[in-house]
Amino acid sequence: MTNISKSLREELKQIMEIKNLEVHSVQKSSDGTIKFLFKLEDGSLIETVLMTYNYGKSVCVTSQVGCNMGCNFCASGLIKKARDLEVFELVSQITTVEKYLGVRISHVVVMGTGEPFDNYNNVMDFIRIINYKHGLQIGSRHITVSTCGIIPKIYEYAKETIRTNLAISLHASNDKLRNSIMPINKSYPLKDLIKACKDYYEITKRRITFEYILLKDVNDSVEQANELSDLIRGINAYVNLISYNPVKEFQYEKTDNSRASRFYSQLIKRGINATLRREQGSDIDAACGQLRYKKENTV
Ligand code: SF4
Repeated sequence: MTNISKSLREELKQIMEIKNLEVHSVQKSSDGTIKFLFKLEDGSLIETVLMTYNYGKSVCVTSQVGCNMGCNFCASGLIKKARDLEVFELVSQITTVEKYLGVRISHVVVMGTGEPFDNYNNVMDFIRIINYKHGLQIGSRHITVSTCGIIPKIYEYAKETIRTNLAISLHASNDKLRNSIMPINKSYPLKDLIKACKDYYEITKRRITFEYILLKDVNDSVEQANELSDLIRGINAYVNLISYNPVKEFQYEKTDNSRASRFYSQLIKRGINATLRREQGSDIDAACGQLRYKKENTV
C-alpha cells in the first residue's frame, strides 16, 4: 500500500498481519462441485466445498480441524478435533475460493468439518465480517449455520442481532436411534432439542431446517417418517432429506431412490414441508458426511 506513509506502513507491520490460506489441492466433480484442500500455517489441512446452483455459488465452510461430536455416519468425526479455526481462517476459505476461481460467492453454509457452535465466538465474528457492508456483503438470509444440537448455543444464537439461518442435523425420529448414531443426543435429548427449536422460532420468527440423512434400513421407513412428522409438527420448519454417501469405515448404506421418495411422500402427506436434495460431489468425497482429509485425495 504505497498510498500510505512509510512510517505508518512500518507501524502496521508491527501490529498487524495479512495471512492467506495455502491451496494444497483442488478436485473437481463431474457435477461441477469443487473441493479445496487448504494447508494452514501449523500444517493442518482442512476442506472447503464450492457448489454451483441456479441461484448462485455456495461455499460449505469448515469450522474446526477435526470434530469431537462423533456422529457415527460422518467421516469428519473420524478425526478428533485438533483445534478451532481462527476467524481469519474462516473468512479466508471464502476469499481464497473467490480469488482462485475469479467468482463471487453468494451463499455460505457452515456445514463442513466441525461443530460450528463448539467454536461459537469465532463463527459469529466470521458471520459479522462476511455480512458487513465493508466486508464481503453476503446477505444474512444467505448464511446458514448447522448444529448437531448444542442447546445452550441455540438460545445464544437466537439472541444475536444478526439473523442468519439455523439448520439442525436431526437424522433420527426418536431418542433410542439418535443416541446410537449421534452421541450429542445423550446430553441434549430430542424433547429438549425440539423445545429449543420452538423457542428459537418464537424469538427469531425464522424458519428452521432439519437435515435428515437417509440411512438404508436405519431411519428411512414409513413408520419413521410418521414419527418424524409427529416430532416436529407445529414447528415452522422444513426437512431437507439428504442422500447418504457411503464411507468405507461405516456399515451404513444409501437408501435407494424409491424408498427415499416414499419417505418424502409420507412427510408431505402428513403436512410436513420437505425437500429431497440432489446429491453433489460424491465422486470426489465432497458430499455431506464425507469431508475429511485423506492423503490419497491430494493431487
Ligand atoms: S455430522 Fe457434523 S457434528 Fe457430527 S461428526 Fe460430522 S462434522 Fe461433527
